[in-house]
Amino acid sequence: MKITIAGAGAMGCRFGGALFAAGHEVLLLDGWQEHVSAINADGLRIDDPRGSSVLRVPAKAFPAASSPASPADLVIVFAKATQTAAVAAAAAAAIGPDTLVLTLQNGLGNIEVLRSYVPDTRLLAGTTTLGTELLGPGHIRALGSGETALGALGLGPSAYAERTALTLSAAGLPTRVAADVLGVIWAKVAFNCVMNSLCAIASIPVSALALCDGFDALAGSILDEVAAVALAEGVVVDTAAALRLMKAQFDPAASGDHLASMLQDLMNGRPTEIAHLNGAIASRALAHGIAAPVNALITQLIGLLEATWPRRVNRLHADTPTD
Ligand code: NAD
Repeated sequence: MKITIAGAGAMGCRFGGALFAAGHEVLLLDGWQEHVSAINADGLRIDDPRGSSVLRVPAKAFPAASSPASPADLVIVFAKATQTAAVAAAAAAAIGPDTLVLTLQNGLGNIEVLRSYVPDTRLLAGTTTLGTELLGPGHIRALGSGETALGALGLGPSAYAERTALTLSAAGLPTRVAADVLGVIWAKVAFNCVMNSLCAIASIPVSALALCDGFDALAGSILDEVAAVALAEGVVVDTAAALRLMKAQFDPAASGDHLASMLQDLMNGRPTEIAHLNGAIASRALAHGIAAPVNALITQLIGLLEATWPRRVNRLHADTPTD
């Protein structure tokens, strides 16, 4: 199968690498020139619990090198949600009349962008619990195991979803077809609106949330707003199940010292996906005439952190003025 990975950071390289190793014709398309050059010069290095390997997957940089010349059978969009529009535009030539487009990105708004490029009948979406880190240009670390769930957005038979799930599973990326894919995506949005944002604000690893006595109330105030907005869009979010899932991550054996991606983005001086998580809840709530003050405040706080992170105080100096 001819597959273009549109946005080849940590996850794009993981999926692209696995599909390439399974024998598919894969092209990694990414906007980070140094990363693309490293992959083309030295191969894509993947560290995983079994060791380290190098794959000679071809990569192209955009916009300089523009899009692939001919359509792919499958385009997997794996940019950060903030980059979806740019990546989709760069990959447009890979999307032909028979191409399937799949997004497994986090956050809200990706599907809406991709709808400009592909009809719902050929648009697949979902989530993945696989974790991957980008260690440097051309070098990723694939963390443990996880599951991918995807489904078709168009009505009618989802043979495309079945086929794509089989392709991914056969490449060592265990994937199931979800009948209610929007429910699956919203459940992950709910999870991230709490866990990602709170860990970023508090600047703590996921397991440290267990130390917060008021966690249920804090999470509940975020989740209730998420669920109200989801309902206005025809999706049910089970807030009790979401809370249980979060608390399961408190176990250091489940999350260890894992740093939420939003905290990693802040630490790396890169834009977070806040506008597509709590920010999307706040703006969609406004559009639906629903109050979402907690998610609006969290969005503002992350904006404050994005703007001021380099000035962050990490220790108390003897000469630090106090008030
Ligand atoms: P990523 O940060 O690894 O890469 C995103 C983009 O940023 C890529 O184009 C990459 O080349 C670029 N980039 C990264 N570091 C850079 C640097 N130092 N300089 C310049 N450009 C740089 O993104 P990701 O973690 O693969 O996430 C993609 C999507 O998948 C997101 O929506 C994310 O929320 C979701 N997701 C990620 C994981 C994970 O474990 N990483 C798990 C599930 C879902």
